[in-house]
Parts: sequence; structure tokens; C-alpha cells
Amino acid sequence: MTKQELLKTHFGYDTFREGQEAVIDALLAGKDVLAVMPTGAGKSICYQVPALMMKGITLVISPLISLMKDQVRSLNQAGISAAYLNSSLTQGQYFTALRYAKAGRYPIIYVAPERLTTEAFLDFALSADIFMIAVDEAHCVSQWGQDFRPSYLKIAEFVAQLPKRPVIGAFTATATKEVREDIARLLNLRDPFCTTTGFDRENLYFAVKTPKDKYKEVHDYILEHPDDSGIIYCLTRKLVEEVCGKLIQDGITATRYHAGLSDEERRNNQDDFIYDRCHVMVATNAFGMGIDKSDVRYVIHYNMPKNMEGYYQEAGRAGRDGDPAECILLYSGKDVVTNQYLIERGQDNQEMDMETWRLVRDRDQERLKQMTFYCFTHDCLREYILKYFGEYGKSYCGNCLNCQTEFEEQDVTEEAQAMIQCVKESGQRYGVNVILDTLRGASTAKIRQYHMEENSFYSVCAKTPVYRLRQIFNYLVLEEYLSLTDDGYTIVKLTSTSRDLLEKGSMLTMKMPKAQELQKKEKKVRRRKSSTAGELKEQDEPLFQKLRALRTEIAREEKIPPYMVFSDKTLIHMCILKPENEAEMLDVTGVGRHKFEKYGKRFIDAVQNL
Ligand code: ADP
Ligand code: ZN
Repeated sequence: MTKQELLKTHFGYDTFREGQEAVIDALLAGKDVLAVMPTGAGKSICYQVPALMMKGITLVISPLISLMKDQVRSLNQAGISAAYLNSSLTQGQYFTALRYAKAGRYPIIYVAPERLTTEAFLDFALSADIFMIAVDEAHCVSQWGQDFRPSYLKIAEFVAQLPKRPVIGAFTATATKEVREDIARLLNLRDPFCTTTGFDRENLYFAVKTPKDKYKEVHDYILEHPDDSGIIYCLTRKLVEEVCGKLIQDGITATRYHAGLSDEERRNNQDDFIYDRCHVMVATNAFGMGIDKSDVRYVIHYNMPKNMEGYYQEAGRAGRDGDPAECILLYSGKDVVTNQYLIERGQDNQEMDMETWRLVRDRDQERLKQMTFYCFTHDCLREYILKYFGEYGKSYCGNCLNCQTEFEEQDVTEEAQAMIQCVKESGQRYGVNVILDTLRGASTAKIRQYHMEENSFYSVCAKTPVYRLRQIFNYLVLEEYLSLTDDGYTIVKLTSTSRDLLEKGSMLTMKMPKAQELQKKEKKVRRRKSSTAGELKEQDEPLFQKLRALRTEIAREEKIPPYMVFSDKTLIHMCILKPENEAEMLDVTGVGRHKFEKYGKRFIDAVQNL
């Protein structure tokens, strides 16, 4: 079979995505590969297709047991025989699997890195015909990456022992130069074919909001999207408990995930989410790596995370199937403080010496700043993200809240000058709340304690709403007319350019959302649509629901997650094409021959007998 035929037969897709074909061709030609592709771009197919075309075994090295299980199950679903070897197997199962592997039963075998150099595995590997080694999440080999795994260093050691060196493909979503160099060096790649697929994920919609009541925002969003699966990320375990508890109280089928739960509960909750028994997962950032659920329709960050790397990775778990999905970040000033506390405490890194720790802390603080700017910018959010990762975006994407909001330039000179003067007169000693409370003439305990009523700028902005004062303040920080200290207390300081604004005749304008825009506040209905399959017509909604129900039924029978039967995209395409026979069903995206044989008839019946 050609690679196109394989793609259609086993995976049901007609065309390769950007980057996939070049990687496949290189591997088939026996050339090592280093592929940097963002989450959801379709890395697995890059090694699965050549694995099926060449004689010999492909070993896939993967850091996570859950990921392996999922991938093997998906492959089996697609009619491909594959197995995994890791510590979740009993000794008996492990040796049986090895025996089958020796007999050449599996073209693809997933293996945990720490297994590679064990005696039993080496015994198998030395006599097997290993065509390729695919290293998934290859950044784990690097100490620069976010998830360093010392056992990844065993890969090179293992390869060196093999009688014939297999071709090596390394795959990661982490793009920094240090990490890439580390991967090539530590895995001993030979003159690899390197490719970086664009970081843009066009199907993702981005928004930053600053709601007064975050919980209400989340709650209302969930009610507006009752059929969708989504993840709510919180910064702390405590908040996960709180938000999840409230949602359940309010009748929403939510579940939770964080490092404080027992292994068993985490596994169960994760399964509830993957199998669509719970639609909403409330979690810390401990949740997600290795979770392959492709139909997550939204990721809401209840708090601002501590850097853009983390944010894009977590947000990127939405819409891996390529269909429209939303990434919404709920910002509040408190998030900055919490993150600063987490950085100061340096919680994950107790092994570092003082000097390294300081370096890391400074780097983290810089990253936090960049993250905060993302929340303040009024420019295209996608462009901000792409720029951060070193790519050029268009300045207008049309698919983020900022691009969809009408802004107008407004004169904020007076407020800006008052802020700077107020900071100056009070001796650059106070935080943002004291400054803003002074300007708006509040009478809080702190204002009285610091005698801010006596400041000449007390109450000069009494007419400006607080949220607007905050926006202006954020803008001054963004444009470096004011700065914030990083030492845990966040004191407002002047900068070398503060004075420029006080000069006679100077003027400052900033982009502000138009007033009426704020009121009507996108009450848009997200119609189900898919980039490849098209848009679902309103009259087809009942059919779509019916197909979903059938999918759930099959998933229960086979004890697999629903999205492994067919994706939403496939169901939408069925509603559009309304296939009557085998040939028409095979035209549906995501329906390959193998799945057709398993489920084709039931779905044709369902479509025809509405
Ligand atoms: P990654 O590992 O890069 O995060 P996956 O390999 O899990 O991404 O693929 C993400 C999703 O994209 C999966 O649902 C996969 O089936 C789908 N996919 C991959 N390649 C294609 C393709 N050529 N056409 C359509 N869908 C694809
Ligand atoms: Zn945009």
C-alpha cells in the first residue's frame, strides 16, 4: 500500500497535514528526523505510517503509560496490531507480550524508556529486526525542557547496543533552540531532517476576559455549551476543589484532577472525562500531558498561568481534531501575585544551588511578565502568541476576542499623568491598589493609615470607573511608563520615561473597546462546524444527536472512549453527506475501511432511518 492508501484505509483521512508527508518520506528513506510540531498537529501519523510500510518493528518510546494505552487502543481500532510494554502489565502479561513481539506479531510496539536497558527487553531487541525508533515527547531528554526525564538518556545507550542502527525519529512540541540541540545531541541523531511546523492553530479561538465573578463566567459558559467537553485549569489545588465542588452543587457533571488525589481517584476521574461520563474537568496543570482526547471543545483558564509556554500547551489541548474550539483566559490582578509567590517559593526545584535558583527565578519572572502582557494587550492575541514563539503572525487573525472587538483610540493623558504624579508624590512606596484607591478617592483602612487623603491627587479621577483606571494603569506598565517591582510586594515605581508624559503638550492615547461593544458582549452562538467537514445545518441537529447517541452506545459496548469510535467531525460530515451505501460512507472523513467494516452499517441505518 502507498502512504496515501494507508492513511485512508486505517485512519480514514484523504490528505496529509502540513509537514507530515515530508517527515514520512525522510523516515522511509532511512533518514533521522527531528520534528517540532505543536500539540494536535498530528505527530503520531508521521511514524505510524512508515512503520506500517517498512519491514521490521517500530519501537515508540513514550514517557507516559496513559498515553501508550490510548495510542495502542486507537491503533487497534484502526485495525493495526500494536502493543505496549510498561509497568502497568503484570510480569506474566509482560512476558507474553514480549513473546508475541518476538514472533513478529506487532509492527508497532510502545515502550517506556526505563525498560529499554533491562535484560528481558534487551534479549528481545538484540534478536529483533528493528526498523525505526520513534521518540515521542523527545524534549524529555533535555534538562532545558519542562519535563526532564533522566530515563530518556538511556535511549542512546540502548541504540548503541543494537547490532544494526535503526532510523530514529524524534518528535516534540517544544521549540526552543537549546531543547532542539539537546535532542539532536543526546539522541545521537545523524544529520537529521529537521522540520518545524507552524505553531499557529487556526481552529483555536483565543480570548482574555476580566470578569468580576469568574465562577459565574465559567458556570454560564458551561450551560451555554452543554454538549461539549471542556477543561477548566486552576492555579491551585484548593481552587480546583472549590470550583469543582460548586459546579457539582449547581448540577453540572464535573470532575477534578490534581496531585493531591490518590492515584486511583485520578485515574477514575480522568477516565470519566475521556469516556464522556463527565463533560467538565477541573484541574491543575498536573492534568493533561498524555491525554489524547481529541474533542475537547474549550479550555478555560480560571487563573493566568505562569508563562506562555504552559499556557499554550494547556490551551492547545482544545480542538486537537482540528475543529473550532475556544481558549479563554480569565485574568485578575491576584493571579500575578499568586504566581509570584509560586516562583519565589521555587516549589518544583529544591535541588538547585542558590545561584542556579536565582537565574531560574529571574527567567521565570521575565516569563510571567510576558504572560501578563498577553492579558493586557489589545492587539491580536494569536499574533502575540506566535511572536512569543518566534514566528510572524498577521496582525489581524479575525478569530480572537481582540480582533472581534471594535476599539477606538481614546485620550487617557489626564489619568496617566495623575497616576505618575501620585506615585511620585507618595515616594514610590505603594502597590497598585493604594495608588488607584487614592486616585478614585476611596476611604479604605490603608488609605487612612498611609494618609493618602493628603496626597494632592486624592480623588482627582473620582469620575473614572475603576476597571478603566486599571486598564490605563496596565497600559502604562505595558508601555513602560511605570514599572512594578518583582520582590513579592509589587510596588509601583517610576521609570526613565515616566517624565516624558508629564512634559507640556504630551499626549497619550490607548485603544479601548467601544462602549456599546462591551454591552452586547458577543452573545454569539457557536454553530457546529468543522474545517474539513463543513458546517452542520440547523435541521440536521437531530440527526447529529442521534449519531452521537449511537456512538455512545458503541463506545459502551466496546469499552472505549466515544471519540475513538468516530470524531465529531466525522459525525458532522455524515450529517452533511447522508451516505446511503458503502462507497458513500467511505467518502466521509475519518471513515477508513477498517472502521467501515466495524460500524459502517449501523451508521448508514441510523442516517437513513431518521
Ligand atoms: P499530536 O501528537 O501532534 O498532538 P496527534 O497525533 O494526537 O497529535 O493527532 C491529533 C489529531 O489529528 C488526531 O485526532 C489525529 O487522528 C488527527 N490527524 C492526524 N493527521 C491527520 C490528517 N492527515 N488528517 C486529518 N486528521 C488528522
Ligand atoms: Zn486575532
